[in-house]
Amino acid sequence: MTARHAPPVRTYSKSSGFYQEVKKDFFTNNANLLQTARRQNALYAAQPRRTRCKLCEAELPGVVDFTSHGVDYLFCSACGHLNGGHEETATFIDALYIAEEGEAYATHYIDAQYERRIRDIYLPKVDYLRASLPEPATRLLDIGCGSGHFVCAARMRGLEAQGIDVNKRMIDFGNHQIANLLGTTPLAHTREEEFFELVAQSDAQILSAIGVIEHLREPQRFFAAFRASRIEYLFYSIPMFSFSVMLEHLFQNVFPRQLSGGHTHMFTETSFQTLNERLAVHSLAEWRFGVDIMDLYRSCMTTLGENGTSEQMTTRLREGLAPCIDALQAQLDQHHFCSILHCLTRRDNHGP
Ligand SMILES: [Zn+2]
Repeated sequence: MTARHAPPVRTYSKSSGFYQEVKKDFFTNNANLLQTARRQNALYAAQPRRTRCKLCEAELPGVVDFTSHGVDYLFCSACGHLNGGHEETATFIDALYIAEEGEAYATHYIDAQYERRIRDIYLPKVDYLRASLPEPATRLLDIGCGSGHFVCAARMRGLEAQGIDVNKRMIDFGNHQIANLLGTTPLAHTREEEFFELVAQSDAQILSAIGVIEHLREPQRFFAAFRASRIEYLFYSIPMFSFSVMLEHLFQNVFPRQLSGGHTHMFTETSFQTLNERLAVHSLAEWRFGVDIMDLYRSCMTTLGENGTSEQMTTRLREGLAPCIDALQAQLDQHHFCSILHCLTRRDNHGP
């Protein structure tokens, strides 16, 4: 299927400078984050056993590959996808969702971090998308838009972007922020039942799903909706099985950023190909970067702290490792062993 298409344009790495500021919480609030992750994982591990691959639906092998923070994980022998050993039942999803609501988004205040996150995280994604499109396309539908950072960034670059999400409070919050910045409210709340129909009927040229596919309870329904639609391009990001997951397994007292809570499964280089096959798309452009080495640094710092080492020890680690983070990460990125993949794809039946 891929043979008749030109190989994708591959891009690597991104400076991690933004990360320490944006995700400072990971360094300073490890105990609370870890406790929450363990609680969510315990609930997940209490759900019925998963017997089929979340992605390709092949029967999973009986052998557990590793256990981390209380959850068993297995690689699918058909597509290579890393599956959590349990089903994401409605009970589990509702508990996660209610916990998230519990963080109490106050809808009517202006969040100073909102614009900063757009500048540091979302504008680079929009710029990458625009630079990778083979022809101009402006109508964009962002699914699982949350509070609309990507939609806002896309509008700042002149795209006619709309967003939909099942979380009404995030939609209200995001519309309030975007109205303040751009004088428009491009986000709409949708119920889960309507979600797939909205995709299938959309008149957008580009569908974006940033950090969304891994959260879908029934990804097959999304694949079918996209295939049934007339949307030409799909731009998505997915979490990848990489060095970070190994580190999380090795450092059980450090908050597992990549594989916990709502992240119960991970893509691999082979299951990413299966994803494109299921969507009937081919890859035009792929951008790989990760925060694996930042996770290594954070895991070491946190563990030194727990071990009661002197200030001199942490200073020596900071001075020794922190300046090398981007260079080390770049090696992992180029070796395709990094935690995030962004991909611009095009429908197979309309492709070049
Ligand atoms: Zn599979």
